[in-house]
Amino acid sequence: MSDIRNVVIMGSGCSGLTAAIYAARANLKPLVLEGHEPGGQLSLTTLVENFPGFPEGIQGPELIEKMKKQAARFGAEIRTGHVDKADLSQRPFLLQVGREEVRTRSLIIASGASARWLGLPSEQALIGHGVSSCATCDGFFFSGQEIAVVGGGDSAMEEALFLTRFATKVTIIHRRSQFRASKIMLDRARANPKIHFLLDTVVEEVHDVNSREVTGLTVRNVKTGEKTLFPSRALFLGIGHIPNAGMFKGQLETDADGYLKVHDFVHTGVPGVYASGDVADRRYRQAVTAAGTGCMAALEVEKFLEEQGH
Ligand code: NAP
Repeated sequence: MSDIRNVVIMGSGCSGLTAAIYAARANLKPLVLEGHEPGGQLSLTTLVENFPGFPEGIQGPELIEKMKKQAARFGAEIRTGHVDKADLSQRPFLLQVGREEVRTRSLIIASGASARWLGLPSEQALIGHGVSSCATCDGFFFSGQEIAVVGGGDSAMEEALFLTRFATKVTIIHRRSQFRASKIMLDRARANPKIHFLLDTVVEEVHDVNSREVTGLTVRNVKTGEKTLFPSRALFLGIGHIPNAGMFKGQLETDADGYLKVHDFVHTGVPGVYASGDVADRRYRQAVTAAGTGCMAALEVEKFLEEQGH
């Protein structure tokens, strides 16, 4: 990885891959670094019904695979690798990718956002032992069981609906009684006889750390303060995401929650560095908007390199 790259794309979700398709077609030979979660959030989801062009819907992982093939077909190089550190004060920019150093004239940050956890010690101790943020990955293990999902947005509804394929009962535990979820998703969850709701309630502890499996949850009603033991064989989190932009701390501006700040759609404060997709979008966070800004970022890279005489 010692040559100077025209463009490095951080992230292989639909934003990074769309940027890769455009940059590759512009003959820029982009290097795509897959990151810790190859394929991004779409690769952890099931049926995507709102991506234009697929009237019957398409499975998230299949959509990502198609984008990857499309990018590779035009010459994008897609590698495993994660940017641990970046120095944007020198040109070309310097990226530390594991033990290797990568130099690039321009950079597209499409590193997305990762699942948020409650942060309880017992929850952290039981990740992979009944606590999960990915229903599509782990739902199967809880066939015939009663399980819980935390959250009140579309992710929680989607996870709960998916989990009804395996579980006998799915309880959505939400800290309020109003939902962020879209009406269509909430209606679907409400109409599903396997889905129950426990509202105005927070999870305070996950049992049982000693036996390395989930046996139940201590939950607290936030209105009455009453604590109860809620039996459950698994806990799925659907409480949103945290942007993956920590490696740019002090170099690029973020908002209070760590989302990269952009102007004119995809420009960061550093010329030649662009941000696209969920790492810079707390508002829309859709596959199609992530793809759209990935396209914009690649077009800006093309213009930037041309202006620099490359
Ligand atoms: P979200 O809309 O931000 O919802 C997060 C939910 O988790 C909220 O209900 C929030 O509660 C709750 N929450 C956050 N932190 C919590 C904590 N520490 N403890 C307990 N609860 C907590 O996130 P999302 O559901 O991941 O959705 C993100 C975006 O992706 C949205 O634009 C959504 O439409 C989209 N999406 C769409 C689909 C689909 O259409 N099929 C599927 C998934 C996601 P409060 O409401 O009290 O803040």
